[in-house]
Amino acid sequence: KVRVRFAPSPTGGLHLGGVRTVLFNYLFAKKHGGDFILRIEDTDQTRFVPGAEAYIFECLQWCGITADESVLAGGPYAPYRQSERKPIYKQYAEQLVAAGKAYYAFDTPEEIEAMRAQRKAEGSGSLQYDAGIRMRMNNSLRLLPQETQALIDNGTPYVIRIKVDPNDILSFTDMIRGDIEFDTTNVDDKVLLKADGMPTYHLAVVVDDYLMKITHAFRGEEWLPSAPVHILLWKYLFGLEHMPQWAHLPLILKPDGNGKLSKRDGDRLGFPVYAMDWQDPKTKELTKGFKELGFLPEAFMNLLAMLGWNPGTEQEVFSIDELIAAFSMERVQKAGAKFDFEKAKWYNHEWIKKLPAAHYLPQVKSLLAAQQIEITDDAYLVTIMEMVKERCTLLTDFYEQTAYFFKAPTQWDVASVKPKWSAEKASFFEVLIAQIQTMPQFDAPALELLFKALATEKNIKPGELQLPLRIMLVGAKFGPGVFDIAEKIGKQATIERIQQAFP
Ligand code: GLU
Repeated sequence: KVRVRFAPSPTGGLHLGGVRTVLFNYLFAKKHGGDFILRIEDTDQTRFVPGAEAYIFECLQWCGITADESVLAGGPYAPYRQSERKPIYKQYAEQLVAAGKAYYAFDTPEEIEAMRAQRKAEGSGSLQYDAGIRMRMNNSLRLLPQETQALIDNGTPYVIRIKVDPNDILSFTDMIRGDIEFDTTNVDDKVLLKADGMPTYHLAVVVDDYLMKITHAFRGEEWLPSAPVHILLWKYLFGLEHMPQWAHLPLILKPDGNGKLSKRDGDRLGFPVYAMDWQDPKTKELTKGFKELGFLPEAFMNLLAMLGWNPGTEQEVFSIDELIAAFSMERVQKAGAKFDFEKAKWYNHEWIKKLPAAHYLPQVKSLLAAQQIEITDDAYLVTIMEMVKERCTLLTDFYEQTAYFFKAPTQWDVASVKPKWSAEKASFFEVLIAQIQTMPQFDAPALELLFKALATEKNIKPGELQLPLRIMLVGAKFGPGVFDIAEKIGKQATIERIQQAFP
């Protein structure tokens, strides 16, 4: 059975790229009738951010994605939080030491610093803790077993490092990138178990992918350089045949293609919901996410799917079920995917049009409430939303596009009317009011008929009168058909707005 996982570290707000990784995992799992597991990788205590785990769940809930197994849902391989699995990893690290594939390293931070300085002086760039260093340092490979034991018994701080033999070629087949080879000479003796007894990501990810029977592991391209360490661990601990199939997903690039999209791109470029850890340097406010900007989760999922994947057809708008049906790893590209905010808005517009307005009524109601417009009749608002939704790219646009149905304008775009205004037109509207008052049935077709007949009688082109009427009712030059607006706001309000316009 297909089992995939998303394994975020709770180090801050979940970013666009993270959600894209979730989505690809989820689509692949659902496509193959498999399970999607959410594992919290919180072994790095120094980067732990309180609230980040809850934030991750909140984001996924908004996106409409639920994990089959997780901290919240439980499951047969619980616990799903790595900090609660601490003893498991230590046992595997010690097993590697016993097998001669890892060793205790007693280097102090000062010694590591000195090594780094020396490397720099030698001009060899960043420090690689490799076979050469391994034998020079005060670690267990140079000590007698009883000396090592004595140091441990004395409480000397230590880490456990993997022993990477140089001059070996490691290879694996990435589902997106094909065959990849690494020369072990360039691979560090990575720390597996830290001085605080916590595993590093490298050890924990391999152990948990094994214990949780993960069949496919999809993660961001930034993890590709770590792959050789993981492959070695798979080889030493479990035999390569149990190793999941890897896929390293393409990076998400800035709109201009110049570099990776990052948190620093701030507002509009990264977060599904409020970014808990990214404040606007000026206002000190938390950065808005797609939710607060007025995106629909359906659109957000759709646009994320298109970042690095394509269906091979012209179709661009996909529901989650359509994505599940169409998705395949073969159509995920290697090259980075540019994130284009304008295109993102296009998707949202498509989804606003596509979904029945009732679907996003709660969001629109709450944004109207925030502007002191309390809705008492949901059905009425839904009808209006249907009338104006074509004009809304973001949900937040619904405020401007619906507010005038509830509140008479207090300002009018007089400049658009004035140049062509005349005494005849003023008298037209006076007679219009009188005639509206006697209408037995006030609806758009009846009003239009009456309006046009009166215009003909007064010898004025109806088109020249419709703009003033619109500005009287709306305040500005936008909105659906002006007679439809009049019908919706009703006879009384229509009369009042004509009377009160441009005092
Ligand atoms: N914990 C890693 C992260 O935060 C997960 C990488 C992986 O999926 O293996 O990105």
